[in-house]
Formats: sequence, structure tokens, C-alpha cells
Amino acid sequence: MSYKITSDCNSCGACEPECPNTAISAGDDVYVINAEACTECVGFNATPQCAAVCPVDACVTDEGHVESEGDLITKAKKLHPGKDFSGAVPSHFSK
Ligand code: SF4
Repeated sequence: MSYKITSDCNSCGACEPECPNTAISAGDDVYVINAEACTECVGFNATPQCAAVCPVDACVTDEGHVESEGDLITKAKKLHPGKDFSGAVPSHFSK
């Protein structure tokens, strides 16, 4: 499941540099997450970083994009072909 940014976003931009997949960009009114590039931070962090830094709790799970941990690791591999994701990877599923 990817994350999405709600209309509560105040466009502070805190989330953008935290995303390991450069999935976040400034939109017309609020920042937006590219669901094709969001791995819920699986492979990089045990906590979704955008949600962790958002001061107004505008980064939330997107029920329209439900994915398993395996799906997200596969996505991470495609996004970062040079990185080794074998073995235990950081994941909020492991919490
Ligand atoms: Fe990027 Fe992680 Fe937020 Fe997804 S959950 S948009 S990978 S920071």
C-alpha cells in the first residue's frame, strides 16, 4: 500500500527529501506521492519517513493501493536495481 498526502498538507516540504524513492513532489496545492514509486519505505526504513516527519499528519496510507511486503520489495528492487535487498530488510511489516 502506498502512502498519500491529504489536503491537510501545508506544503512545508519536510517530507520530500526524506523519501528514499524520490516519490514525493510538490503539486499544485499540496505535495503528492507517486504510488508507483512508494514502497512504504520497505527496504530502507522500518517507519514510513514521510509520515514520521509530517508536522500535520497529512501522510497516510492509501487504501486504493494495497500491496504486500513482497510486492513492495519487488517494487524496491525495480526502483534500485543496483541495491541488494536480500535477507532481512527494514520494513514496518517487521515491527
Ligand atoms: Fe516515500 Fe516512504 Fe513516504 Fe512512500 S512511505 S512516499 S517511500 S517516504
